[in-house]
Amino acid sequence: MPDLPDAISPPAAAPALRGRPLDPIFEPRSIAVVGASRKRGSIGFSLLHNLIVNEFNGAIFPVNPQADVIHSLKCYPSVGAIPDPVDLAVILVPRQIVQGAVEECIAKGVRGLIVISAGFSEIGEEGRARELVLRETVRAAGVRMIGPNCMGVINTDPDVRLNATFAPTPAEAGAIGFVSQSGALGVAILNVAGDLGIGLTQFVSMGNKADVSGNDLLEHWEDDPATRVIAMYLESFGNPRRFTEIAKRVTRKKPLLVVKSGRTEEGARAASSHTGAIAGTDVTVSAFLDQCGVLRADTIEELFDVARALVRSPLPSGNRVGIVTNAGGPAIMATDACVSLGLKMAELGEATRASLRSFLPAEASVGNPVDMIASATAVSYERTLGVVLDDPGVDMALAINVTPLLTSPIDVLEAVARVARDRAKPVLSVMMATEAFYEEARERRELPPVYRFPESAARALAMLARYAAWRRTPTEAPEPEFPVDDAGVAEILERVPEGYLEPADAFRVLELYGIPLAAWRIAKNREEALAAAREIGFPVVVKAIAPRLVHKSDVGAVAVDLRGEEELTRALAGIAEAVGGAGFAVEGFLVQQMARGGHEVIFGVTTDPRFGPLLMFGLGGRYVEVFQDVRFGVPPLERREALQMIHGIHGVKLLLGVRGEAGADLDRLAEVLLRLAQLTLRHPRLRELDINPFLATADPGKAMALDARIRVGPGPSYDPALNP
Ligand code: ADP
Ligand code: MG
Repeated sequence: MPDLPDAISPPAAAPALRGRPLDPIFEPRSIAVVGASRKRGSIGFSLLHNLIVNEFNGAIFPVNPQADVIHSLKCYPSVGAIPDPVDLAVILVPRQIVQGAVEECIAKGVRGLIVISAGFSEIGEEGRARELVLRETVRAAGVRMIGPNCMGVINTDPDVRLNATFAPTPAEAGAIGFVSQSGALGVAILNVAGDLGIGLTQFVSMGNKADVSGNDLLEHWEDDPATRVIAMYLESFGNPRRFTEIAKRVTRKKPLLVVKSGRTEEGARAASSHTGAIAGTDVTVSAFLDQCGVLRADTIEELFDVARALVRSPLPSGNRVGIVTNAGGPAIMATDACVSLGLKMAELGEATRASLRSFLPAEASVGNPVDMIASATAVSYERTLGVVLDDPGVDMALAINVTPLLTSPIDVLEAVARVARDRAKPVLSVMMATEAFYEEARERRELPPVYRFPESAARALAMLARYAAWRRTPTEAPEPEFPVDDAGVAEILERVPEGYLEPADAFRVLELYGIPLAAWRIAKNREEALAAAREIGFPVVVKAIAPRLVHKSDVGAVAVDLRGEEELTRALAGIAEAVGGAGFAVEGFLVQQMARGGHEVIFGVTTDPRFGPLLMFGLGGRYVEVFQDVRFGVPPLERREALQMIHGIHGVKLLLGVRGEAGADLDRLAEVLLRLAQLTLRHPRLRELDINPFLATADPGKAMALDARIRVGPGPSYDPALNP
């Protein structure tokens, strides 16, 4: 019997589900569209239409009791009436009947759900209640659900070809997994991706995230070989702590790019501490993303600019950029942008310069940027870029081309592609060319990423370098826990139902946690103060203790360097008068050892109701808020992360020692951060803590806290089990 011609050979059996939890959603073999509609322009029509025109590789069953046929497909009155098995159901019915439809799907044996219908938690209390019932139902049945209130899901895998969205723009196949929390923005994202010629593996509009969350999607894409870059547009983190854990792991394998909206939103927090005043929700988010190796983009445009560099380029092994150009202006702009983003201009070696001089015109500049001048052709680009890339001092390159009259920019881009191909260094191109060029470049996906302006290319290079650096940082074993007196701390925190601890209690908490303090005594009156000073030894410092007195030196409540009994007596009287005059009731005095030398730094803790505790380190003293030279970190901290916070401030140069001064012992400072991290995680009632100043000294034995403030809340500051 002759072989059947291909065209009529029986279809291959649909591949079995691979057994990952979200496979019924991404790789269904059959789909029911519950609420399919014949009305052109309706969501129920558009979604069914998208499934068909994108050639879904499985069976489609429209469900609508009011129709026999929709879009040439036989229509069923209910999911239960479909004779074949159904893997995925897309629900588009009015909100009141979503629950019933979902229950019917579960009874039918459906394994995945996409609930497009709106009218849930986004509309308030009534909707929230409806959503909770829905979540309970699907979780009890072990069925996974995207939505409700979402735009749907796309999988461009040629074996699946699923477009279960009502978006007008189809997605091209590619290497980026994209998840959007906003449905409306999802449409825009697909449009931008289409315009830039960027392909996706999968696209998910998450909607209200009643069941499947961004965290679930990260885990789904973690080991998916086709998805080489993960991109997220987020408005909120359901469970930030779980996100940290997953993101830290995933970013070791593939880059994760996030646009988190709400950058300027200020947390409505009572900020009486230095740390609280400086930290805001957005600072928290950035610290938190940074620490997991996540790349944060400001806009969708920037996200795609970086994503396409990540998809098409190798990672650089350092941060030194070589620039090759045919015009001076854009190269200067590119240089500025690179340097301000933390990249370094590569120093070209003598051999490189000599080689360039041998073939470039005499007017050309063979330093970095290499300016080949306007007569440069595609061949000049190929030779020059090759020589620059082969310099061992160059980690990546930027080719800039302003279209001259005679050279076609596509030829230049092809030349760049040839040079870049067998050199394992990223090369991005900036082509200042016409629209026609960009249209052609978009179709030619084998060509290296091309940008319209030097700044966007520089940003993409900077992100490549940052991600590469993250991949190189070794993972560390978790810090061993410090032996501390937690029961003692708990007992002290108990003393205050809500508000500030007494200064002495704040000091005791630090002592119980092994954080060094300047010797101190509490004194009720002059006699006790004198006795305390004799015990500590002159010179001393004295400070007033008074209820509600927060910033002591503002009201003259601090006197330093008191060298004898007479000076002390005079200071006590002066302080009492000044502080009383400012309207505070002096209850006593703190007598402290006078500390000398070193630099004043600040350690802080603040808490965010969603993210939990946040640690701060920076230059301290009275002008903390003026300079705001601080870095944040999310506990638990690794020692490396603590050191990174310290090295991250501008003033680290002071701490390392300038003009012959001895540097401070940074390990000692890192240890304080690690101890504070442990304190905040073990004592969740702690809301805010400021140690300002802490004296950072060269001799680790002389480093100590001089002032501390701790505020506690009535209950835990955040819910660690939030949205598990
Ligand atoms: P507040 O922050 O409430 O104004 P501090 O206790 O921090 O009060 O004291 C203000 C400043 O006085 C500190 O920033 C530091 O410069 C100095 N100071 C405080 N205590 C000492 C001390 N024990 N030794 C030396 N200087 C001190
Ligand atoms: Mg202070």
